[in-house]
Amino acid sequence: MDARCADAMLYNGKVYTMDRDKKFVRAIAVSEGMIVGVGSDDEIKRVAPRGCHKIDLGGKVVLPGFIDCHTHFLQMGIDSMSTDLRRARTIDEALSLMNEASRKIPEGEWVIGTGWNESGWKDGRFITAKDLDACCPNHPAVAHRICGHMSSVNSLAISTLGMCRDTPDAEVGPSGALTGILRESAVSIPRAATAPDRIRRMKGLALATKKAHALGVTSINDNGQPEDLEVYRSAERAGKLAVRVWYNTPSETLDAMLRMGLTTGLGSNMLKVGGLKVFCDGALGARTAAVSEPYVDDPRNKGILVHDKSVLNEMVSKANDAEIQLAIHAIGDQGIGVALSAISSALDCDTRKDRRHRIEHLELPSPAHLKTMHRFRIIASMQPNFIGEWGGTDGMYVSRLGRNRASRNNPFKEVLSAGVKLVFGSDCMPFNPLYGIHSTVNASFEAQRIPASDAIAAYTRDAAFASFEEGLKGTVSVGKFADLVVLSGDPLADPDKLPSIKVLKTIISGNVVYESAKKRGE
Ligand SMILES: [Zn+2]
Repeated sequence: MDARCADAMLYNGKVYTMDRDKKFVRAIAVSEGMIVGVGSDDEIKRVAPRGCHKIDLGGKVVLPGFIDCHTHFLQMGIDSMSTDLRRARTIDEALSLMNEASRKIPEGEWVIGTGWNESGWKDGRFITAKDLDACCPNHPAVAHRICGHMSSVNSLAISTLGMCRDTPDAEVGPSGALTGILRESAVSIPRAATAPDRIRRMKGLALATKKAHALGVTSINDNGQPEDLEVYRSAERAGKLAVRVWYNTPSETLDAMLRMGLTTGLGSNMLKVGGLKVFCDGALGARTAAVSEPYVDDPRNKGILVHDKSVLNEMVSKANDAEIQLAIHAIGDQGIGVALSAISSALDCDTRKDRRHRIEHLELPSPAHLKTMHRFRIIASMQPNFIGEWGGTDGMYVSRLGRNRASRNNPFKEVLSAGVKLVFGSDCMPFNPLYGIHSTVNASFEAQRIPASDAIAAYTRDAAFASFEEGLKGTVSVGKFADLVVLSGDPLADPDKLPSIKVLKTIISGNVVYESAKKRGE
């Protein structure tokens, strides 16, 4: 196929192809959703059929569609139907949002809030059962912290869920009663009790997809629940899956996967089985990431390892032997070390295997860790937006780690200098590639700062590599999907203007799936 069979052409653009050989073009020819020609306006106009659909790019910047390599995509959509506590600037504001939500539903039904973050609040304390009792006296209520590793419930929820002092990870106060604060494993109890039904999941997918299109995201890697695969598959069958999905399955499904022979890469151009998502440690915000030096603001605490080393090693080697990609959540240096030693022993010192195992987050790697990753070709799947949210000279990272360690966390520059493949995702905190790109390009600490071209590559070309799809997407090149994003400004020429750059259009398989509302005068 070439540009002579194009059914559409996009012209008058400033197209950064992200292709190593052909950096910059003006026009793109598309046939049946695939790119069949790239070149100057004249080159493409000369060969494209006269009657083909024409899209004027208005001289705007075009990039390959963004690929978010770490999301909780369906969960984000589902959460968007509950009360959004992310922007509450005080604890009172959060509680009054919960109160407002409770008035809209019958007594006895769950009030669900998501995304509270005390780190920006004046007294910086966690929400307790007492707080929630006051604002939601007649409803069971749960408020999930932004990190996903902590939630708060009220007294009615505690009794509805049958929780008691023996419930693991449910905090007990000095009086001997539960405080309502739940950590790690206890968080799953209210989550299970309020699990959305299928209709709500489908609606969540539609909402998340809409958001993705508005932000220029054309592909995602999801880390979801076992039930989510069926939701994606039904949406695909109904012709409603409008974002490409790489679905990482949770580690508890490993044995089922092995029995069924389900391996990485199975699926279609829209939906593929991805890797196995394994937790190695917790998070820095909740002080559960496994670090070798204690937390500065909790000097006796060095975080947690989720699995016993032998359990982790066995899981990793089983998955590796079955050619299943590993996506291991490891944040603290201790956690990263344990994850890397499991992967390197599974690869059995055979560096020729192309498994593309990944460490998710990789916030505190040492130079030795990066060397190992380079040697075993392990991918660094990181979140630049974390720097925007919690970095800087007075952010949460500095309070947890002290300035010295905080200045070397999320060291994207060092990852690249070590020759490790760097791919970017958002973890949906928040979901927005341009914000992530801005966060690293304009980061306060040197180790976290990389040029816009590298940041964009990590969200496009290299991101495609993480799902073995570099032949299908990630650059604007002949033979790849016509997945594109059109921007209002130029992040490569004016990186300092990144915060004001907007997505104007998102295109998937040559179809415009999002177009920003035109302002007057445009
Ligand atoms: Zn995550």
